[in-house]
Amino acid sequence: MQKVTLFEGDGIGPEITREVVRIIDALQLPIEFEPYDIGKTAFENCGELIPQASLNSIKRNKIALKAPVTTPIGHGFRSVNVGLRLAFDLFANIRPAKSIPNVKTRYEDIDLVVFRENTEDLYIGLEEEIDENTIHAIKKITRHASERIIRAAFDYAVKNNRKKVTCVHKANILKKSDGLFLKIFNEIKEEYPTIETNDLIVDNTCMQLVMNPEKFDIMVMPNLYGDILSDLTSGLIGGLGLLPSANLNEEYAIFEAVHGSAPDIAGQNIANPTALLLSACMMLDHIGYTTEANKVRHAIEDVYQNTTIRTKDVKGTASTTEFANEIIARL
Ligand code: ATP
Repeated sequence: MQKVTLFEGDGIGPEITREVVRIIDALQLPIEFEPYDIGKTAFENCGELIPQASLNSIKRNKIALKAPVTTPIGHGFRSVNVGLRLAFDLFANIRPAKSIPNVKTRYEDIDLVVFRENTEDLYIGLEEEIDENTIHAIKKITRHASERIIRAAFDYAVKNNRKKVTCVHKANILKKSDGLFLKIFNEIKEEYPTIETNDLIVDNTCMQLVMNPEKFDIMVMPNLYGDILSDLTSGLIGGLGLLPSANLNEEYAIFEAVHGSAPDIAGQNIANPTALLLSACMMLDHIGYTTEANKVRHAIEDVYQNTTIRTKDVKGTASTTEFANEIIARL
């Protein structure tokens, strides 16, 4: 039996988690979810944002499925997401953006994957007040972190029969930090002669992404560009409700939707569970159930392509539960 740590989160988290668990259960796989608290709910229950029991569960199971959580606003609170990524050194954030049939957007045939470095860059949070009107923020880029994310992108490309890896950077201005990232990309690409490569300045990448997004395949970049560009790519395929992600290293993996806890629509059973469901599919791939993951992906495509049953964010009127029922009916 494969045990999976489950965080149902808060806001829309519990509603989408309930439906995703129902769908995964319908596959009748030897998977058991172990529910634990994290974020706002954990803080209210035990005064901690990331309780030790939750960390221990991930340590035991190595795999977690996580719904969005709210980090209470206040001094001294670090984001739960950043905290978890650092606690387990989950250096690779993988965000695939694939067009979903019949979801109306400006583009068709998008099928790209963003590999975002997850542990350094401006996210180390080192800001220094030089004086009242001058603040410095440190951008940290290391060979170790750059090598492993770039290699992860190339390995994924080989494993998934992808053709091209693009390095996104701003090495023309940040000659040392992004210069190092680009230099390492150019070293590592020599190890993968079958994969086509190029590099693009991040601002140019933004323009190309909105003009010709279908030309992109695998993209690898430092943390901050990954944060911004992956939200952009979610917009290309129809919004945040559709974009899954994995945070992983060689030992641990946490799968989560890219979107937040959406407090504006929480408790109404209208949130789109697709992003969390596609994240669960990435989890199934990870533990070896690729056939079952693809079965769920085909069911999602079928519902979008051949019915009008969809949630409000993608111009439908169905509830979260009604959408999930349609998926289950196809499994
Ligand atoms: P955070 O800071 O946690 O990312 P946020 O408010 O910036 O939170 P989201 O919570 O992702 O971002 O919400 C952004 C918008 O997208 C909101 O209007 C929200 O209702 C909508 N949204 C996000 N996720 C979904 C979803 N799964 N289904 C429907 N709408 C969603």
